[in-house]
Amino acid sequence: MFPEFTLRYARLPERFYLRFDPVPVSRPRLVAFNRPLAEQLGFDLSAFDERQAAEWFAGNTVPQGAEPLAQAYAGHQFGHFNPRLGDGRAVLLGEVTDREGRLRDIQLKGAGMTPFSRGADGRAPLGPVLREYLVSEAMHVLGVPTTRSLAAVATGERVFRRVPEPGAVLTRVAASHLRVGTFQYFAARDDVEAVRTLAEMAIERHFPQLLGPELAEADEGECYLALVEAVQARQAALVARWMGLGFIHGVMNTDNCSIAGETIDYGPCAFMEAYDPATVFSSIDEGGRYAYRNQPWIAQWNLARFAETLLPLVDDDQERAVARATEVIKRYESQYEAEWLAVMRDKLGLAKAEESDRELVEAFLEALQSGRADFTLAFRGLGEAVEKDAPALLALFENDEALRAWLPRWRQRLAREDAAPAVIAERIRAINPRYIPRNHKVEQALAAAAEGDFTPFETLRDVLAKPFTEQPGRDEYARPAPPNEAVFRTFCGT
Ligand code: AMP
Ligand code: MG
Ligand code: MG
Repeated sequence: MFPEFTLRYARLPERFYLRFDPVPVSRPRLVAFNRPLAEQLGFDLSAFDERQAAEWFAGNTVPQGAEPLAQAYAGHQFGHFNPRLGDGRAVLLGEVTDREGRLRDIQLKGAGMTPFSRGADGRAPLGPVLREYLVSEAMHVLGVPTTRSLAAVATGERVFRRVPEPGAVLTRVAASHLRVGTFQYFAARDDVEAVRTLAEMAIERHFPQLLGPELAEADEGECYLALVEAVQARQAALVARWMGLGFIHGVMNTDNCSIAGETIDYGPCAFMEAYDPATVFSSIDEGGRYAYRNQPWIAQWNLARFAETLLPLVDDDQERAVARATEVIKRYESQYEAEWLAVMRDKLGLAKAEESDRELVEAFLEALQSGRADFTLAFRGLGEAVEKDAPALLALFENDEALRAWLPRWRQRLAREDAAPAVIAERIRAINPRYIPRNHKVEQALAAAAEGDFTPFETLRDVLAKPFTEQPGRDEYARPAPPNEAVFRTFCGT
């Protein structure tokens, strides 16, 4: 069933990881399987057997050709450096080449106590596994680069958190699991050669354009700076997309900053409902470091930590290396601003770019904030308001004064688009989802699954597979939480 493994990471020198076989579980049961993704990865599903699949995705059977290992990484957690942070519970089986010819990691998360576990149990509870499954797949369909979820297996064993919970293993697929924290692990040990190896791997896997003729003449330092810039471009594009969806990652530690530019780690993440840029969900984010509005600047902070790991490779003169790297990192601001504006223009149905668009976007966001309107539905509702005020849109606002003042401005701007109103409305509906993983719906699905009822999980998964399409009878999935069900706090679930 498994495609052939390529084993790229496993061929790195030994200090990059520790060989580790997943610890078998007692009664594995496949509770979710992502067929389209499996097909894209080259799995042969012709003789698909659920029991056998459960054995594989639990880690009870190691597929042929895999050499399971735990990857070493460090990272800044809430700004504090931890030189030995992961991977205490995820096992990389190896890489496979997908149908498009790209290498993809296949990893089992929750596969047992690895040598990096630092006393923790190496396991994952079912709830967080299903949450990652739902939200990561939703993000993918919403057009956001992300790690994917291939399978979830209930282990038949309990894990002990605040209370005993059913355990599970998630099969995570990623462009790679190289993180800023992976580079930091070696930089903290002054292992410049290891950093160089990682940088070469990152370029080969994610940025082959840097091997092209432009940089052939450049000095070595220039190549590593180009890598920083390339990672930076991906992060700027990524965070702009999060902002456009009201997505709050919640734990933007440097180990959760992927070099490939994918969203990774769905611990305490959540989507904002009523628009407020100061929104924070994660219970452990006491200072609001990872609040919605801080995300773009935290990404830049993480990129600066990434650049630091490369300094010895950038220039022999370290002062000059810092100056050169700083210049690159500073450019993030304009890169991010441009990405953000492009996302927001799309959301407002604007295909052309005009000088005053930024102000128009900001005025709409202010109207959302003063009206305490649901972020997702308000953007979606613009699709009905291209020509005239739509009662359904106005009804989303506790106070619609600012919105009423804004709509005519927006329509004047739309008039310069040279597109029929119906076309603009269609554009708006194609970019602004009607359905997102609303926290209360996710929580309800997880609570039912913990009791053995997977129907709400299945239904939610189905709703989220078509986020831009009106689904009759499924209004409850589109609406924000009723006051008695609203979720204000999320937990890492680790
Ligand atoms: P996270 O905060 O989710 O990014 O997790 C960071 C690291 O914490 C992981 O790579 C693991 O090394 C470690 N970790 C988290 N939960 C567990 C667990 N249950 N058992 C062992 N290690 C864990
Ligand atoms: Mg993590
Ligand atoms: Mg996590």
